[in-house]
Amino acid sequence: MIEQLLHEHDSTADNIRNTLSALILRDKVTLAEIFYSAMLEDAEASKLLSAKSVESHLKPGLCLWLRKLFCHDSRDELKAVLAMQRHVGEVHARADIPIKLVARGMRLLKREINSRLVNTALAADEVVKAILYADRLIDIAFEEMSAAFVHSRDSGVKVDEGFRLFAAGQNLSLEREKQVSALLDWENRIFRALATEMPLDESSAIENSAFGLWFHHKASLLFNEADGLGMIDEIIRRIDHSILPQLYHDSGQGLRPAEARTLIKAIMADVGHVRYLLGEMFERLTDLDVGRDALTHIFNRRFLPTILKREIAWNRKKGDPFHVLMLDIDYFKQVNDEYGHDSGDRVLQAVAGLLMNQVRASDFVFRYGGEEFLIVLAKVDQAQAQEIAEKVRRCVEEVEIPISNNRVVRVTLSIGLAGSDGHPDYQRLLDRADKALYAAKHAGRNRCVMADE
Ligand code: GH3
Ligand code: MG
Ligand code: MG
Repeated sequence: MIEQLLHEHDSTADNIRNTLSALILRDKVTLAEIFYSAMLEDAEASKLLSAKSVESHLKPGLCLWLRKLFCHDSRDELKAVLAMQRHVGEVHARADIPIKLVARGMRLLKREINSRLVNTALAADEVVKAILYADRLIDIAFEEMSAAFVHSRDSGVKVDEGFRLFAAGQNLSLEREKQVSALLDWENRIFRALATEMPLDESSAIENSAFGLWFHHKASLLFNEADGLGMIDEIIRRIDHSILPQLYHDSGQGLRPAEARTLIKAIMADVGHVRYLLGEMFERLTDLDVGRDALTHIFNRRFLPTILKREIAWNRKKGDPFHVLMLDIDYFKQVNDEYGHDSGDRVLQAVAGLLMNQVRASDFVFRYGGEEFLIVLAKVDQAQAQEIAEKVRRCVEEVEIPISNNRVVRVTLSIGLAGSDGHPDYQRLLDRADKALYAAKHAGRNRCVMADE
C-alpha cells in the first residue's frame, strides 16, 4: 500500500498537490461541518453519534484526518498517513460503526472536495488530475481503514463468545443466591411500603433495584440469548410500567382493598415467575467448563472490550452515565521483595476479594494486569463514582492482609477514574483513566484522581 501511496505522490505535480493542500487547510472545518450535519440527519448514523461527542471529538478528529491525508510535505509522512488509517479502522470496529456508513462518508467528502477543486486557479486539465489524485488518496485511505476494521471485528466476535463461556465459570451458585435474595428484597420493600402507606414512586421501580441493575448489565452476558431473558424483561416492564403506577398513583386515594390485593397478587406471581426463569437459566449454565484468571478468579481483561461496548451502547440508549476505575497497588514490588512472591500472590487475591465486596452485583471487576485492576461502575454519576473509589481506597488501606507465619501486610491503591463522555470508542475512556491513575501516582499515591472531561 505504501508503494501505491508513494506512486500517487510522485506522479502528481507539485502545484496540484499544493493547491489541494491549501484547499483542505482553508476548508477543513467547513468540510467537517458538512460531513457531520449529513451524518446527524441520517437515521442510521445519528443513532451512533451524540451531539456532544461530534462537537468535542469527532469534528476535530476529521479535521486532523483531512490535514494528515492531504497535507503531507515529505514521503516519510506517508507512512504515518497509513498508520492513521489503520488506527481509524480499529476505532470504527471498537465503536461498531458499520463500514457502509464510512463508505458513505468518503463519498460525501469526495463530492465536496471535487466541487471545490473546480473553483481553484488550476487549469482545466489540472483540475481533472487534482480530482483523480484526491479520489485515489481517499480510496487508499478507505482500503487501509477497511482492512484494519475487518481484522479487529473478526477478533472481537471471538471474544464475545469467549466472554459468555468465561463469565459462566464465575461462582454461579453464589451469584444465583445473591440475585434471588436481591429480587426478594425488592419485593419486600414494596410490600412494606404498601403496608405502612409509605408513598411509592419511580424510584421503587424494579429496574432501579439492585436486581434490576444486575439483570440489565450482567444477566444478558451470562445467559446470552436465552429465551428466559426476554420473558424476565417483559415481566420487569409490566411491573414497572403497569402494576406499580396503579399502586402509587392511587396510594392514599383509597384504592379499594380488593383492587390492591389483585395488584399485590400480580406482583407475587410475577416475582415467582422471575425466580423460576432465573433458576432454569442458571441450571443450564452450571455445567459449562470454562477458564478464569487462575490467581484471583475474577474477570480477565480479554473480555473488557465486550463489557465496555455494551456499557457505551447502554449509555447511548438510556443516557445512564458509567465510570471506569483503574486501580494499581502502590509499591507492590516492595511486597514481593520483602515477603516473597507467594505472599505477593496472597495480597493480590485479597485485594481482588476486597474489590468484589465493595462493588454492586451490576459492576464488573477485572484483573487488568499484574497488580492492576479495573472496575466498571454501571449507572453512576461523577460524584457517586468518586465516593465509591474513595470507599474502595479506604477499605484496602485499612485492611491487614494475612500472609505466611502469622504476619500481615498492608497495601494502598492509587485510582484513576474516568466517566463516559458519549464517545463511541472505549479505548479513549481507558486512556483517560490511565492518565488519571498516572496523575494519582505522581501526586504521591494512595489517592483517587478523576480524569478531565
Ligand atoms: P507503583 O507504586 O509505581 O505502582 O510501584 P510498583 O512497585 O507497584 O510498580 P511496578 O510496576 O514497579 O511493580 C509491579 C510489580 O508487580 C512487579 C511485578 O513483579 C509484580 N507482579 C506482577 N504480577 C504479579 C503476580 O501475579 N504475582 C506477584 N506476586 N507479583 C506480581
Ligand atoms: Mg503497575
Ligand atoms: Mg503498582
